[in-house]
Amino acid sequence: MADPLPAELPFLPYGRQSVEEEDIAAVAAVLRGDWLTQGPAVAGFERALAARVGAAEAVACANGTAALRLAYAALGIGPGDAVVVPSNTFLATASAARHAGAEVAFADVDPDSGLMGVAEAEAAIARAAKAGWRVRALAPVHYAGQTAPMDGLAALARAEGLALVEDACHAIGTVDVSGGSETPVGAGRAGVEAGSLTVFSFHPVKTIAAGEGGAVTGSDPALMARVRRLCNHGMMREPHAGEGFADPEAALDAEGKPNPWYYEMAEPGFNHRLSDIHAALVLSQLGRLDRFVGRRARLMALYAERLAPLAPLVRPPALVPWCRPAWHLCAARIDFRTAGRTRSAVMAALRALGVGTQVHYIPVHRQPYWRRRTGDLALPGAMAHYDRTLSLPLFPAMADGDVDRVAAALERALS
Ligand SMILES: *Cc1c(COP(=O)(O)O)cnc(C)c1O
Repeated sequence: MADPLPAELPFLPYGRQSVEEEDIAAVAAVLRGDWLTQGPAVAGFERALAARVGAAEAVACANGTAALRLAYAALGIGPGDAVVVPSNTFLATASAARHAGAEVAFADVDPDSGLMGVAEAEAAIARAAKAGWRVRALAPVHYAGQTAPMDGLAALARAEGLALVEDACHAIGTVDVSGGSETPVGAGRAGVEAGSLTVFSFHPVKTIAAGEGGAVTGSDPALMARVRRLCNHGMMREPHAGEGFADPEAALDAEGKPNPWYYEMAEPGFNHRLSDIHAALVLSQLGRLDRFVGRRARLMALYAERLAPLAPLVRPPALVPWCRPAWHLCAARIDFRTAGRTRSAVMAALRALGVGTQVHYIPVHRQPYWRRRTGDLALPGAMAHYDRTLSLPLFPAMADGDVDRVAAALERALS
């Protein structure tokens, strides 16, 4: 039998972008054209993304963190307000709320799926109320590519008058299948009066890459207009008489149209724009999203098979029944304690065998900044998830045999 771990195989990172000639050609075409920023590639990407996720509109922006910042700002979240954020996420879901001036009410997660459920969100709301904060939004994170239980969380948002900001940085291409209907992540939720927005990241390790890029999607025209305005300095080209003109003489020409130099600002915004160079890359990648998602699903099915003999020490990610995931991470659950190996030793052994891994995530509420700000919180689900999680290599260019290689390396590293 062939050795599944020959020494000369190339290193397998835990994630990697897939850039093909058509992507390179799309970027080169922008460089040869007239616009490097906010040209036809950005507009084309926004239309294609909105259509793909079933939202009325998409605003492309600089990265996922900027998308979160724009979403919170457009919802008018600020000092005295709080956002409910699961502790099992990347720093940015919480930091962006803090940058808006808001507090973060960290929620626990299910130790197996890593997802925030309704009970965990309710407990965080109760803690926030005790602290005297006005909770304004739930920010569920679709960890690893599976959605949080959105039917329940949307019902909670409606009942409590909260907005929804879905952090879907892991989940472009995921479809919610609860209640017999299919809702792509990004379509948002109807009837959430306080607002329903979804944010995406196109960092190279995510499912489609812009280099750096992000987007906000939604279907409320006023809210999306505010996202768009805030993304570009709060500038409006059209005069808005109701608010008073920046320069009444410049506002309208003889034909009643805005003069070409006219702009006005009703609130300070950011420059969080996406460039046309990045937009061309991510638009080209969006065209292969189904292929990427299909390949990731196939690799996850292989992982389920190949990791089965290592149970119960190693288990693949826990599946939730309410979505068809576009897998971003293969976040395996490993019982390091029973195996008698530290995670650090297992990672080092895997690395020596050419297998890269990563940990998603150190619970954000444990970060020094947040411990200083909110004190020590007991979130046992997030800690139990963190204790066992290890993200194994998962990216579309992996060969089927690479999964065998990872499983064999894990078996050796744990024995
Ligand atoms: C990557 C990521 C972000 C931030 O996206 P950037 O594009 O890196 O700014 C936010 N939240 C989650 C869950 C992420 O994985």
